[in-house]
Formats: sequence, structure tokens, C-alpha cells
Amino acid sequence: MKALVLNALGRGFDLDEVDIASPTGREVLVDVQASGLCHTDLLFATHDIAPTPSVLGHEVAGIVAALGPDVTQVHVGDRVVGSLAQVCGGCARCLSGRPFQCLHPESTLRRPGEFPRLSRGGIGLFQGFGLGGFAERALIHENQLAVVPKEMPFAQAALLGCGVVTGAGAVLNTANVKPGESVVIFGAGRVGLNAVSGARLAGAARIVVIDIQPKRLDAARGFGATDVIDSTTSKPVEVVRDLLPGGADHVFDFVGLKMVAEEGLAMLAVGGAL
Ligand SMILES: [Zn+2]
Ligand SMILES: [Zn+2]
Repeated sequence: MKALVLNALGRGFDLDEVDIASPTGREVLVDVQASGLCHTDLLFATHDIAPTPSVLGHEVAGIVAALGPDVTQVHVGDRVVGSLAQVCGGCARCLSGRPFQCLHPESTLRRPGEFPRLSRGGIGLFQGFGLGGFAERALIHENQLAVVPKEMPFAQAALLGCGVVTGAGAVLNTANVKPGESVVIFGAGRVGLNAVSGARLAGAARIVVIDIQPKRLDAARGFGATDVIDSTTSKPVEVVRDLLPGGADHVFDFVGLKMVAEEGLAMLAVGGAL
């Protein structure tokens, strides 16, 4: 099959011929229909984070083509979306309802001695996050797949795999935002917008979004922000202190700049968290 292979750092992706193994155990062969390009893929492609050569792509949606003999959760023909959360399903964290903190994510992969899922000339390729969506097909553990409705377009479904779960998961799982609490979100990109959705689902009373682009702030309102701040024309800490006199219960930084972290800390309520 064809795959976009990262052969070396800083060289971009090459369209190469790659071998993909047949499914064994709980593996599922997926015909890839859509694959998102996440900024993390670009980080992997330019920084020494994971081995090369590799097949990246961790926002993947497609149709189940074949099953390993032990698969129970999906069927051939199902429309599925991959998740970058690698979940064993049996450790203490998984059993206590926090599979996103699974202690044995490696259990979704083939063991080091086994023949690799992806190879070229008999030599294995690294499969990013156990997914490898930049390819015609992907071989994925069933615990990393979710079935989506037939009506859902593949391109949008693919985004569930990282952008949606990263933003909404930060709010719902990591911060565990409660009804009535206040939330401030720096950065209304794709992850930030999904954090807004998460805050709405959590029942946050105030959802304040800060960005430098008016069109992103408009999008944030569409996703459920109650207040937006353009930080090119006003000072976020002062505006947040006006909106939330006691400070913010939760601040989320989806920007990653020192100044943003400092501003986030400066607007927290007593007992709040950045
Ligand atoms: Zn991602
Ligand atoms: Zn686990």
C-alpha cells in the first residue's frame, strides 16, 4: 500500500510503498478514508521525539476491512475513528474509569519480538501512536477505535481522534470542571474550541476565551463561550478580573507562551488551577 513516510527529520513526508501485516489478536485493519494533520505530526517530523522511518497521522477515520480472531468490539464494514489514547482496558486506571491515564498503553501494540505491523523490505516502520493514519490502510488495536454513525462525514469524524479529545478531555477529565465553575481558555484554535465544548458539557457558568484573531473569537462564541477577549486590544488579566471578581476556577493554556502562563496564573481564584 501507499503511505506518507517520514524517512528522516526535517525532510517532510515521502509517498512510499509500505507493507502492512494481516490482523492478529485484537487488531483491526481499517481502510483509511480521512486523516487529519495535527501540529504534533509536524513536531514529530522536525524534532527528535520518535524513531524514523515512521508513519504518523493520529486523526484517522475509515471503514473496517478485516478483523483479528479476538476482536469483539467492531465488525467488518463499521465506520470507525481512531483515538490517540492507547488503552489496555485492564489496569487499575482503566478499571477505575480513567482509561486516558492507562498504565500499559504499550499493550495496544505488537511486542518488540513480533513482526511489525508496518514494514518495508522486511524492516519495521514506527507506527505513530499505534495508528499510522497517513496511509491507505491502518492496523489498529480495537481499544483505539470507536464506531461512528454512517451519517458522519469521515473528515469531521477524523478530528475526534486528537483535536476533540485533547481539548474536551483537558476540561472534562484532567481538570474535572464542575457545573457552575468558571473557565478561562487561552487560544481558540481547534483544540481550544473543543475545550469550549467541553466546558459547555461540564456546565461551566462562565467560559471566557482569549485570542488575538477576531474570527477565532467569533468561532469561540459559536462553540459556547460566554465572553471573549481580544488580547491585542485589551489586557486579559484586567478584563478577567472584571468579569470574574473572585478569579477563575480553571485556566487552560492552549498557546504555550511564557507570557500566557504568567497571565493565566495571575487570574486564578483561590484554589484555582492552570
Ligand atoms: Zn494531535
Ligand atoms: Zn490500562
